Amino acid sequence: MLDQKEFAALLEAAKLLDCGFANLPKLDGETPGIERLGEVLNATAERLKDNYPYFHPLYAGQMLKPPHPVARLAYALAMWINPNNHALDGGRATSAMEKEAVAEIAGMFGWTSFLGHLCGGGTMANLEALWVAGQLHPGKKILASEQAHYTHRRISGVLQVPFESMPADALGRMDMNALAKRLERGDVGTVVATMGTTATGSVDPLPEILTLRAKHEFRIHADAAYGGYFVLAENLAEEAKKTFARIGEADSIVIDPHKHGLQPYGCGCALFRDLGVGRLYKHDSPYTYFSSAELHLGEISLECSRPGAAAAALWATQKLLPLKKRGEFAQGLERGRKAAMAVYEKLNRDSRFVMAFVPELDILVFAPRGNSVSESSALSRKVFEAAARRELHLAVAELPIHFWEKNFGKMKRDREAITCLRSVLMKPEHLEWEGRIWELLSESTEEVLSGRDSSGKMEN
Ligand SMILES: *Cc1c(COP(=O)(O)O)cnc(C)c1O
Repeated sequence: MLDQKEFAALLEAAKLLDCGFANLPKLDGETPGIERLGEVLNATAERLKDNYPYFHPLYAGQMLKPPHPVARLAYALAMWINPNNHALDGGRATSAMEKEAVAEIAGMFGWTSFLGHLCGGGTMANLEALWVAGQLHPGKKILASEQAHYTHRRISGVLQVPFESMPADALGRMDMNALAKRLERGDVGTVVATMGTTATGSVDPLPEILTLRAKHEFRIHADAAYGGYFVLAENLAEEAKKTFARIGEADSIVIDPHKHGLQPYGCGCALFRDLGVGRLYKHDSPYTYFSSAELHLGEISLECSRPGAAAAALWATQKLLPLKKRGEFAQGLERGRKAAMAVYEKLNRDSRFVMAFVPELDILVFAPRGNSVSESSALSRKVFEAAARRELHLAVAELPIHFWEKNFGKMKRDREAITCLRSVLMKPEHLEWEGRIWELLSESTEEVLSGRDSSGKMEN
């Protein structure tokens, strides 16, 4: 599956980069261990074989997709320099590239004036957003849905900011009645709106949260780590479309280029609408070189050292595939969404399965129907294993039964949570493969269900 053309392009670009440093005195001396490099690299390849095939469309489990080749190559190219985007002196070119790339992401949300930068990932970006929230509303609560990413509670603990979790409704979104009631009691500084939950891709109703903000005055942080890029997609249902259209009205936004932005891991992005939050980051480190009049990215970031290579990769990817509606990048997102809807329709028509709700993005949750929730849960695990034996890799998730209840029919509610199957169809190629994915899933389910005895109990 390796494309030789990619290596040729890298070699050409590396030679070009090398020319930029041609007037330096020649270096001699051996790199330690260089004579055994090939041997150790091969040993590394042997070890790396022990992975699920994340890059292949039949990997349809967790949120994993390969970086675009241009991201991989631009990252590798930058590694010969290994710039550090903490300060302009540590990464001159890549700091400028970071600013440009981040401005393009902010532009996607309609922001022209903002404060923003890259960081290690969504967790780090959310840490910054909640840190800012805590600084601006000291002692006040941060609210997030019980379906929000688990790290919000943990981050709040680290920051020692009081955190409260809000119930989710039957569609996996934050329950607006519960939120309205909670806001009446006061003492809320920030509400986290998850724009695409990690488990089910449900989109919290931002328009309603904005209406509540007008009355109660709190900050809104949009955790769009997973879903943010769907602002460019034109094939969402009406409600999700309306919600994404208003994301620019949040006070802060987090988006993960290493999820849907075709980047290698280690690329999250935090954005603030108010430039004034920059003052909160003020530090007087003697190590930071303040040799430029311009704002250093290190002055508006909690992390110190950051990979300039991540900025080079993102910049190159966005040059190749601009963040434009109807552009190639947007079409890629739309294809994953279309694949998820196609598989959803097949599952929903098939009486062997029970569904929760219509997916809002490209994440599907479903379970084999059993006589009870516990039997369905056991069947989910069996189907997961049977599918993996056919090289179809799904994921399992635990979800509250109130997402499913309306479709349970006669199923006995003997558990509060159901173990279900989860499939993230986030690769554009999933659209060509959805038929094959369905066939393998159907076969695996047939195998598992035929192993049940007549009482509906599993053998062994
Ligand atoms: C993935 C995710 C996070 C965490 O981001 P990492 O990049 O894994 O640290 C936070 N929030 C949401 C909604 C996510 O999907």
